Amino acid sequence: MIAKILNNNLCAGCGLCQSIFGENKISVKLNNDGFYRPNVNQKLNKSEGKLLSKVCPAITVKKDKTVCPKKDVVWGEMFSCFICSSSDDEIRNEASSGGGISAVLFYLLKTQKVSAIIHIGASKEIPYLNEVKISTTRAEIIENANSRYAPSAPLQNILDNIKQFESYAFVGKPCDIAALRQYSGYNAEVKNKIKYYISFFCAGVPSLNATTDIISSMDLNIDDIKAVSYRKDGWPGFFKVTDKANRIYKLSYSLTWMKLLGPRVQFRCKICADGIGHLADVVCADAWEDFDKSGFPTFRNAPGKSLIISRTKIGEELVQEVLQKKDIIFHKEIKDYRDIDKMQPGQLWKKIYFLSRLLGLLFLNKPAPRFNSDFYLRATFKSKPITFIKNFIGIMGRT
Ligand SMILES: Cc1cc2nc3c(=O)[nH]c(=O)nc-3n(C[C@H](O)[C@H](O)[C@H](O)COP(=O)(O)OP(=O)(O)OC[C@H]3O[C@@H](n4cnc5c(N)ncnc54)[C@H](O)[C@@H]3O)c2cc1C
Repeated sequence: MIAKILNNNLCAGCGLCQSIFGENKISVKLNNDGFYRPNVNQKLNKSEGKLLSKVCPAITVKKDKTVCPKKDVVWGEMFSCFICSSSDDEIRNEASSGGGISAVLFYLLKTQKVSAIIHIGASKEIPYLNEVKISTTRAEIIENANSRYAPSAPLQNILDNIKQFESYAFVGKPCDIAALRQYSGYNAEVKNKIKYYISFFCAGVPSLNATTDIISSMDLNIDDIKAVSYRKDGWPGFFKVTDKANRIYKLSYSLTWMKLLGPRVQFRCKICADGIGHLADVVCADAWEDFDKSGFPTFRNAPGKSLIISRTKIGEELVQEVLQKKDIIFHKEIKDYRDIDKMQPGQLWKKIYFLSRLLGLLFLNKPAPRFNSDFYLRATFKSKPITFIKNFIGIMGRT
């Protein structure tokens, strides 16, 4: 099964398989293409294979039926959906967008709703690598705030990582959330200890080689760098490298994300019907509000704002509490969900054209991950026939 996943480029690189089956069976490592991938040291038996097929996001992303008051054909189930920013200036400045995620995380810690946060930050030893962080203080949350547009495998050692404390909030990409949420149905410790699932909109994971190529293009020796961040000093902020002599090198978000990182996302992300965290309790995204003549976000620097969506009852209770306690500032309620279409054109596109890509794969008799059909089916009606066909043909070319 893992060979089939790898041969068809379906792996998302979350690392859960290593944690479940142990490193002597599966070890997840960075490969030459700059992505985390499993190496099979010992074949899985039949029941292990069956479990993998139920939890691995390369194979399945399924949401249990829930009762939710609002549902949009593109943006999914929502209790509330509004624009906010952290009321803590340091959090807002250090974060990617408005610091919505970090504000919620700090609230969870200070109210002792959870004992620790499992999320991703930069490695201290090799600053362009991502690693799992377990944060228990405001300072640690701030240190690990901000988006890291490079592979992360937050579930690689999740079963060991949840041993230390009583309860956790887990932050991950939508595929990480799907994997852990699905696995929680088979593992009581995960079910009991992971209290909150927090995610963000995700356009895809770029290769680590894209990051190291940008650093090389700055005429920097990779061994001379001290820190790498992707969205610092504003919103959307800059790709920023600090060398060991404390010299700073910066490139714009438009250049780095749109031209250098975005085009190098892994194949699995191009056939994803869940870039928006359908299985999370709370999801944040960039709340772009400034558009050019063609209606595309300008990415002009401004004080950061987060779109925040609660997708479950406990997510909604949490968001309302954080708002009431004024840890986040309320800017605007999203009354018309078509406003999110404008803020997130890439995500809208992914939803509308997912079915055409899926059909392209099926036409070639290639496997594809199975998503809940209501993540994408009704959104397909928004597609233009010609672009639908282009995506159908395009994905066949990319395989
Ligand atoms: C690969 C990637 C693609 C993204 N695509 C989109 C998009 O299409 N649209 C959009 O609006 N936003 C996207 N984002 C998210 C966006 O950049 C912001 O992170 C989001 O708006 C939340 O901002 P915030 O200020 O609330 O988060 P912050 O307060 O800055 O917190 C960010 C949290 O995310 C965690 N994190 C950062 N990088 C990773 C990673 N690689 N893997 C797992 N966890 C991580 C951090 O540990 C931190 O807890 C993407 C992020 C990533 C990493």
